Amino acid sequence: MFKKVHLRLTLLCAGITAVIMIIMSLCYLYVSEKGLYRNQFQSFKNDINTITTNLEQQSVISMEWLSKMEAQGKYLFFVLDNGIPFLYNQLKDYEGELPKKQLLDECLNAYNNTFMIEPSVQTSSSYVSYHFEFEFTSDITNMKYFSSVINMGKASSCLEIIVLSSQESLEKQIWTQRQRFILIDITAILLLTVFSFIFTGKLLRPIMENQQKQIQFVSSASHELRTPLAVILSATECCKTAPSDKREGFLNTIQNEGLRMSSLINDMLTLSQSDNHRFSIQIKPVELDTLLMNSFEAFEPLAKEKFITFNIRLPEEALPLCSADPERISQVVSILLHNAISYTPDNGKIELALSHDKEHFCISVKDNGIGISDEDKEKIFDRFYRAEKSRSTKGHFGLGLSIAYEIVKAHGGNIFVTDADGGGSVFTVMLNT
Ligand code: ADP
Repeated sequence: MFKKVHLRLTLLCAGITAVIMIIMSLCYLYVSEKGLYRNQFQSFKNDINTITTNLEQQSVISMEWLSKMEAQGKYLFFVLDNGIPFLYNQLKDYEGELPKKQLLDECLNAYNNTFMIEPSVQTSSSYVSYHFEFEFTSDITNMKYFSSVINMGKASSCLEIIVLSSQESLEKQIWTQRQRFILIDITAILLLTVFSFIFTGKLLRPIMENQQKQIQFVSSASHELRTPLAVILSATECCKTAPSDKREGFLNTIQNEGLRMSSLINDMLTLSQSDNHRFSIQIKPVELDTLLMNSFEAFEPLAKEKFITFNIRLPEEALPLCSADPERISQVVSILLHNAISYTPDNGKIELALSHDKEHFCISVKDNGIGISDEDKEKIFDRFYRAEKSRSTKGHFGLGLSIAYEIVKAHGGNIFVTDADGGGSVFTVMLNT
């Protein structure tokens, strides 16, 4: 399911960014091509102005000058004298050459269509000239041309000088620019897809992990609930047929298993509240030494039952108050003490201690019990995790430390475990002062 979502998200992200990028590229190309065209046309007009001035200064049109200009390859000239092609124009087409005659006809047609005037009808007084610039597409050469018709009077003749400039180089420039953009866009889209894939993968990972944890949590919870439920059902069945003096034993079993289930459900509710950020923490000033003393007294009898030497070590000087939720911190200490007593064999040793420095209060529970392997140390704060060697311990579901972790985290503190000197473990809770 996540693979599909991952792919869809990748396509969506890459698609949206690609569309935006393509639209922007097209806009840029449009503006830039318009600019190129405008500049080229403007430069053609400027050239025509220069050519016109030059021609005006010649008393007789110099064919040599025109040939020189044409030889530069930028322009094509045609001269009409009273509408008749001038000697200058060799309008006969040679093989491999431009079909000049047709080109001239096409240009004059375009000129007439654009300006609706008959070129031959133009009259002009001596040395007064005017010119029009326009653009036309030749069907013969399949090319666009900038062209200009310069009307000029020389002595008794009315001359028309037609200048053509092919847009081939402009088109080449535009085409190269388009190719570059296509290449850039394709590369960018490919890179975008790769990055989108990586980023959406990173984005989805916590969600995937969370879902995995939820699945694991539900399956572990069902598993843990099934055991006491099975015991309750079989005890109920036995209770039905058992003689009355044996019934109490079955009823006690049912009650104990019921209590186990209730404690497990309470633990699961606490964790689910923490996951939904509904974990209520009532922060108030707390005397941590008094709180620890109360926990110590509560667990003393349990320790005595196992002949465990149970000590408490508190600082001698008066402590500043700690901002914390006393109920929750008591719960954390209870979890740690309960574990210490459970995982420490008879005649063992447990010490509950409190210390502080400028920034932290430090609560520690040290035992000389079975200890925790390095591999397990990384996992014991996970939900329903129990180290293999502690599996037989009844009444332990593997939720205690995960609850302690959530409570300490909600206080902005830190909880960790280390090995105790000479075997056993030390659980330390750091709370901010
Ligand atoms: P549980 O209810 O099983 O004790 P916890 O979350 O409190 O669950 O602890 C998880 C596991 O961490 C335990 O199953 C046990 O393997 C290990 N553990 C916790 N405290 C101790 C300890 N003081 N000494 C040795 N192992 C411990």
